[in-house]
Amino acid sequence: MKVLEHEICIVGAGPGGVMAALFLAKAGIPSLIIDQAKFPRDKICGDALSAKCADILQKLNPEILPDFKKQDFQISSDGVNFVAPNLEVLRLKFGGSGPGNKKVGGFIAKRFDLDHYLFQWMAQEPLITVLEETPAQQFIRTADGWHIQTPDIRIETKLLLDASGAQSAFARHHAGIQKEEIHFSAGLRVYYKDVKGMDPDNFIELHFLKELLPGYFWIFPLPNGEANVGIGVRSDVVRKRRMNLKTELKKIIEEHPVISKRFEGATPIDSVRGYGLPLGSKQRKLSGDQYLLLGDAASLIDPFTGEGIGNAMISGMKAAEIILAARTKGNYHAESLAGYDAAIYRRLGKEFAISTKFLQLVRYQWLFNFIVRKANRNATLRETMGCMFESVDLRRKLKNPLFYLKLLFGRD
Ligand SMILES: Cc1cc2nc3c(=O)[nH]c(=O)nc-3n(C[C@H](O)[C@H](O)[C@H](O)COP(=O)(O)OP(=O)(O)OC[C@H]3O[C@@H](n4cnc5c(N)ncnc54)[C@H](O)[C@@H]3O)c2cc1C
Repeated sequence: MKVLEHEICIVGAGPGGVMAALFLAKAGIPSLIIDQAKFPRDKICGDALSAKCADILQKLNPEILPDFKKQDFQISSDGVNFVAPNLEVLRLKFGGSGPGNKKVGGFIAKRFDLDHYLFQWMAQEPLITVLEETPAQQFIRTADGWHIQTPDIRIETKLLLDASGAQSAFARHHAGIQKEEIHFSAGLRVYYKDVKGMDPDNFIELHFLKELLPGYFWIFPLPNGEANVGIGVRSDVVRKRRMNLKTELKKIIEEHPVISKRFEGATPIDSVRGYGLPLGSKQRKLSGDQYLLLGDAASLIDPFTGEGIGNAMISGMKAAEIILAARTKGNYHAESLAGYDAAIYRRLGKEFAISTKFLQLVRYQWLFNFIVRKANRNATLRETMGCMFESVDLRRKLKNPLFYLKLLFGRD
């Protein structure tokens, strides 16, 4: 059996793992990254990238974002159409629509293309060693780190970065992260061509249908007249209501009084496929002796929006920062890495808390319908809500009961 020694080994070359490798390389630190897949590879996802992703790419290397924007596999998307349970639509531009809106919005790109694009940037980097088709099968704790067993090689490392996604065996067996239904969602995705009535400005669509609450159905536009269509519902809700998500999705597409009309003449271009979303609604221990958990392996998906790509990227960047600091201390013991947990939750903890609250609120159909109706009649409220996607402080307003009192008794 061949043995490879690397001080830092990253398992998983999704957005979390790749960003860790690239930020480490930027700091002059070499790493080995392994993935069980051969790239390009698919990842079940909604494919929507928030402005957060653009921010991280800018921080990494100002050349990437302008180059990414030139790629024909992506489109920009600057807003969202919220569809309330009573089917009233609220159209919100991210960051508001006023002259002060200079923020970059989001993008949509199939993960097949996005992940391959990022993978290629990584593969050019001399400090990063990449091994594809190399599944980590076993993790053995040693006196000085971890042995990672793959079919053909044993990797001996001092620091393991687990970025292997929602089904991480390391997180479950070695980092004590158990799957809890109330902190986990099930999601389905199917690609379609020629869905009618797509937004002229490529806004994404979130349909909070009453049969799915607190989950939702989505339609996200893609280049070439394609769309990413799917549903996501929390796992405890799926079990309690005995939902069959495939049947629910089929019913919406074929029978929903409004949505089904948009699918007349549309064709699915792949099969319906599902994957899990580990949510950030519970804080976890993300580091320990000679390991860090990144992205989905660390349960960093926003509980309300389902956004996980940007958060995985943030975790890659924060991991690199903490590794740089730990290296100066000369070891990767749990105490040297504990700052990682603090850094992650300092950056994302507020968002997770607010999104968890939102999730409780959207159970009330009347409240959802009411806010959408009010916002449609009140430009200031609409602007404020558009800005909430950019600002945690504004989002916090929605947690405050006074906000609803003002809504109730305010003009309009
Ligand atoms: C249905 C659905 C819709 C979603 N929609 C969105 C959305 O629109 N926007 C958004 O921001 N987020 C969305 N998410 C969440 C997003 O997909 C994840 O948060 C994101 O992919 C996490 O990135 P990651 O790098 O942590 O893991 P992943 O992207 O899952 O990458 C993990 C990598 O590890 C590799 N790997 C796994 N096991 C091993 C092993 N044993 N050995 C070696 N390699 C291994 C895999 O091949 C993979 O390449 C959605 C998720 C789902 C399921």
